[in-house]
Amino acid sequence: EMTSNNQPEVNIGLVGHVDHGKTTLVEALSGEWTDQHSEEMKRGISIRLGYADATFRKCPECDDQSAYTVAEECDEHGVETEHLRTVSFVDAPGHETLMATMLSGAAIMDGAVLVISATEDVPQAQTEEHLMALDIIGIENIVIAQNKIDLVDAEQARENHQQIQEFVEGTVAEGAPIVPISAQAGANVDLLIETVEEHIPTPERDPDADPEMLVARSFDINRPGTTWDSLLGGVLGGSLAQGRLEPDDEIELRPGREVEEGGQSEWEPVTTTIRSLQAGGRSVEEATPGGLLGVGTGLDPSLTKGDGLAGQIAGPPGTLPPVHQQFTMDVQLLDRIVGDEADEVDPISTNEPLMLTVGTATTVGTVTSARDQEAEVALKRPVCAREGAKIAINRRVGTRWRLIGIGTLRE
Ligand code: GDP
Ligand code: MG
Repeated sequence: EMTSNNQPEVNIGLVGHVDHGKTTLVEALSGEWTDQHSEEMKRGISIRLGYADATFRKCPECDDQSAYTVAEECDEHGVETEHLRTVSFVDAPGHETLMATMLSGAAIMDGAVLVISATEDVPQAQTEEHLMALDIIGIENIVIAQNKIDLVDAEQARENHQQIQEFVEGTVAEGAPIVPISAQAGANVDLLIETVEEHIPTPERDPDADPEMLVARSFDINRPGTTWDSLLGGVLGGSLAQGRLEPDDEIELRPGREVEEGGQSEWEPVTTTIRSLQAGGRSVEEATPGGLLGVGTGLDPSLTKGDGLAGQIAGPPGTLPPVHQQFTMDVQLLDRIVGDEADEVDPISTNEPLMLTVGTATTVGTVTSARDQEAEVALKRPVCAREGAKIAINRRVGTRWRLIGIGTLRE
């Protein structure tokens, strides 16, 4: 099969409450992917991005949902299945419940599977929070996986289905298909694939535009104790929103890095050269939009270590959006704090700290001026973003940052 056939072309988020089965579902869909080729870089990306690729296929001879599979051969007919497309799944890693992680992941999602366990009342806290985040970021292509149906009887499954329908009413997921599955037993996973194929299309993108990569993670793939002469350059993980990248391309990262000059601190772009590209679980000579991507660079790994460059944008020097150390945003507040019936959202006030997610970047800012439907913020770490960019606004409530509204970048 041609390499290009297995380049992922769409990112699908796995969202929902902890323990409802997101990771189990990714495993069921991505099969053996994670243990096939064990190059350093790929392992680094898959662990830290919490992502896996899956290639959806279809048996030409089955005439019902069982045609949809990730297997290369149909069990029933013994024929080779046909390639439909390769997708990248973005899974909230581990027991990660931080909204910041979910929100910055959402910036690179083209659609989402909302996993809801049939064994619990709907909604659980993160079910509601994650759906609100999809709403805010504008992810409209949603499929709901009603999971763990092996653990409930038909009556409970119906009741739970009803609860899900009521819960999504009036949200971005209203009318989304609800597919009962057991991720663990592999039941109805074929129907889920068919539904994802129908409801989460690959977005149209311009491959001839200047490339723009949203960096979601960054890391150092060298083992401790590697000597300087065998050190590998820093690795970026993320997704191309548009354009193509090739090895030897020069790229710039913005906002770049903080430098001290005469007691003053400033941010300056970082430039480097692409040394290798990884997509769909292998090295590629060209990366195209959609799907998750690993980019090996010539950067000093100390810069990329521990997500040091996460939230930045990469592209040809001189083509990237502007960098903002402060900005004004139009603000639309939620009526109440998600997951907390009692807590109304108070207006934003001057001097309060906010956590803002812009694209894959998360930054803390202080409000320098607040009016009715707009706020001016000064950021600790600048962000690279276009006018009109959507901003998730979080306020500290108790010990947690809670989603309180959405902003639109003005200038
Ligand atoms: P996550 O936190 O949403 O990623 O949830 P996990 O995928 O880690 O699953 C949480 C637990 O539920 C694990 O013990 C899984 O084995 C179990 N689980 C996931 N899906 C199913 C299912 O369809 N049926 C049953 N019985 N257990 C499941
Ligand atoms: Mg998980």
